[in-house]
Amino acid sequence: MAKPLIVGNWKMFGRCADLAEIGALAAGLGGAVQRIDAVICPPSVYIAAAAALARGGPIAVGAQDCSIEHANAARTGEVSAAMLAEAGARYCIVGHSERRANHGEEGAAVRAKAEAALAAGLIPVVCVGETRPEREAGRAVDAVRAQVREAVPETDLPLAIAYEPVWAIGGDRPPAAAEIAAVHAAVRALNGRARILYGGAVGPANAAEIFAIANVDGALVGRASLKAADFAAIILSHPAAG
Ligand code: PEP
Repeated sequence: MAKPLIVGNWKMFGRCADLAEIGALAAGLGGAVQRIDAVICPPSVYIAAAAALARGGPIAVGAQDCSIEHANAARTGEVSAAMLAEAGARYCIVGHSERRANHGEEGAAVRAKAEAALAAGLIPVVCVGETRPEREAGRAVDAVRAQVREAVPETDLPLAIAYEPVWAIGGDRPPAAAEIAAVHAAVRALNGRARILYGGAVGPANAAEIFAIANVDGALVGRASLKAADFAAIILSHPAAG
């Protein structure tokens, strides 16, 4: 069984003072998580400070996005994967539905970002997920399969795929366990090596149930990763934490 991976995406929340949550999280986890990879992805300007705080502890630091450019380039406002790695990131989320919706990033661009992350030695977390109309039309599995084919690079390097139904993100109800299981099985059939995470409305109250679903290798967590107590409760509810 793959080592579970639980990633917190702070999005554009959390200021300098909130980096203290990383220390509180490490203290809350104690030695219980040697068998789980736990990651916090703060806004990119805080990655270096977060990595310094996390050094030597049980939490790794990740980025929420990277440029498709591998080398230095005239890309105003962008940050390369190599720069993120230099700042202390070890993971990089790519293709989050908010990037897809707000920045028009789709298959080829997401794949290029994942490849840039891999080239810089980062572990990409490639997000895929159906919209509500796709789910209601019975096309969730097909939509996710298409996104995986387009956006996930062929590689032997470590990589994670996060299944995040767009309609569940920021809401209070994940899909039914059987619905999550069906999508994860379809993703597993396409990619036998990647860790497959579930994301969307994961919290302390439902994490254990989600971690028990076949082919769920961990979680991508938004709101509930902002407070150390909630994120620690999610991580500690994984059977591998025991
Ligand atoms: C997310 O945005 O990736 C996410 C999973 O958000 P939330 O956990 O808040 O639903």
